[in-house]
Amino acid sequence: MGVIRAAAYGKINLTLDVLGRRADGYHELASIMQSVDLHDDVELELGPSGISLEVKGDATVPEDSRNIAWKAALAFFASVQKEPAVAITLTKRIPAAAGLAGGSADAAAVLRALNTYFGHPLTLAQLQTIGEGLGADVPFCLVGGTQWAQGIGERLTPVTAMPPYALLLAKPEMGISTQEVYRNLNSDSFGDHFTNRFLQELEQGQPYAALRHVGNALETVTLPKVPQCQWWKDTMHRYGAAAQLMSGSGPTVFGIFTDDERAYRAWNAIRHQGNVYMSRLHHCGVKLMDGDTGGCQ
Ligand code: ATP
Repeated sequence: MGVIRAAAYGKINLTLDVLGRRADGYHELASIMQSVDLHDDVELELGPSGISLEVKGDATVPEDSRNIAWKAALAFFASVQKEPAVAITLTKRIPAAAGLAGGSADAAAVLRALNTYFGHPLTLAQLQTIGEGLGADVPFCLVGGTQWAQGIGERLTPVTAMPPYALLLAKPEMGISTQEVYRNLNSDSFGDHFTNRFLQELEQGQPYAALRHVGNALETVTLPKVPQCQWWKDTMHRYGAAAQLMSGSGPTVFGIFTDDERAYRAWNAIRHQGNVYMSRLHHCGVKLMDGDTGGCQ
């Protein structure tokens, strides 16, 4: 029996444009997705048979077959035609239902770790196909870093990596349903308002200038419902954030700081007003702890 440990990194959306509604009910997106160093710990113990799951650190996350990490293990074993045989322990740090892809990160780590344990029977492309069936952000989390995402988030193009800027994440108590946010989105906000401009600056080697073009179409739905988020954004701006925005469908908002000292002062100003995390932009989605880099440099 072997034990594998992995770090599963969360993400933010530096841009999120909704281009339109598709016939299948999903929305066509353009987004610059970015890993952050806030991560869950994922531990897998192989054998003897069946799947079991323990979740530490977040009592709201299911400990049964509803958990996306469980689903990822099942899907992996089915793809390689083996009997499922793994005990999974998740230590949650990424808040759930927060727009930070906490569940998707865990699923990606399970897929990477099992694939490595069994000697890489599946290619990255095959893992991404499995991931797509589990959740829209799993394909991103399998690679991570800085990626241009299209489609429903499954078509990924690596772009120039953002520097490891300091990051503040602030999350209100309430979670938010992604489906509900999309349902309430007005088609007036459809279009590529941010992603193309951000990409142009980034590909010219200007990550700082690119930050002028952060933007998220879903803010129009979520922010009016959570006044605290606007206060966090305004405060981060006052303390010198180079950019401040809501991530994904929210409600987490983030501030990016090119100067660690400013980030620290901003953190000090808001840390008593909710769940506030000091973090940093990160260069990969999954890191396996024993040798295989799982996409990490
Ligand atoms: P995304 O940004 O990918 O939409 P999110 O951060 O908004 O993700 P998740 O953290 O993935 O959302 O959680 C969404 C829901 O999924 C939660 O309400 C939770 O009950 C359920 N869930 C299932 N498995 C997990 C997991 N491993 N970690 C967190 N939540 C999970």
